[in-house]
Amino acid sequence: MKILIIEDETILAESLKTLLEAKGYETEAVYDGKSGLEYAGLGIYDLVILDVMLPGLDGYQIAKKLRAMKCGTPILMLTARSGLEDRIEGLDAGADYYLAKPFDTRELLACVNALLRRQGSQVNELIFGNTSLDLSSGTLICGKENIRLSAKEFEVMRLLFQNPARNLSKETILAHVWGYDSNAVENHVEVYVGFLRKKLSAIRSNVAIVAIRRLGYHLEVTTP
Ligand code: CA
Repeated sequence: MKILIIEDETILAESLKTLLEAKGYETEAVYDGKSGLEYAGLGIYDLVILDVMLPGLDGYQIAKKLRAMKCGTPILMLTARSGLEDRIEGLDAGADYYLAKPFDTRELLACVNALLRRQGSQVNELIFGNTSLDLSSGTLICGKENIRLSAKEFEVMRLLFQNPARNLSKETILAHVWGYDSNAVENHVEVYVGFLRKKLSAIRSNVAIVAIRRLGYHLEVTTP
């Protein structure tokens, strides 16, 4: 697995390299927007870690250009700006996940794993934070604890695990899990999110299902 780091703070870029290489990833770092776009555009990387504030082109411009070039490499965007508007701008530009600096290295590694797993073809579990969702048994697992999900709970959870950073609206979840033609209403989504939160806390997971008004739900790793 090859990861490209585009980050002009060389100390941070180096520490990311060290961290990821210790986990067995191959990494390359570039320190300005233009080289970043050039390298990422090669399409040889499994993941791009992209800073927003960069000399040359900024992270949003790079993400937009890559997506316009039909480069589908997952993008994990890093920035000192953490406002909701910035998050939305990052995701709209084509980032798959948005992490605000300073970030916890465990959260960064969890995101990297989640984004790389989505790339893999023989996925039989999805991982976020300290928790995995076993796709064959429909079980949520956290350390030694595990809990079975009902069929609908599993469908909702899988959708959230597959799109941890995107805000999934109630309509989207409803359409995916219950189908357009069902009689289910948005209240069903709230009820199932409630069930899932109870199950996550029962296995002492550090994964939270976060609701943002009018936008929907996404996952976050909570720090103890
Ligand atoms: Ca920067």
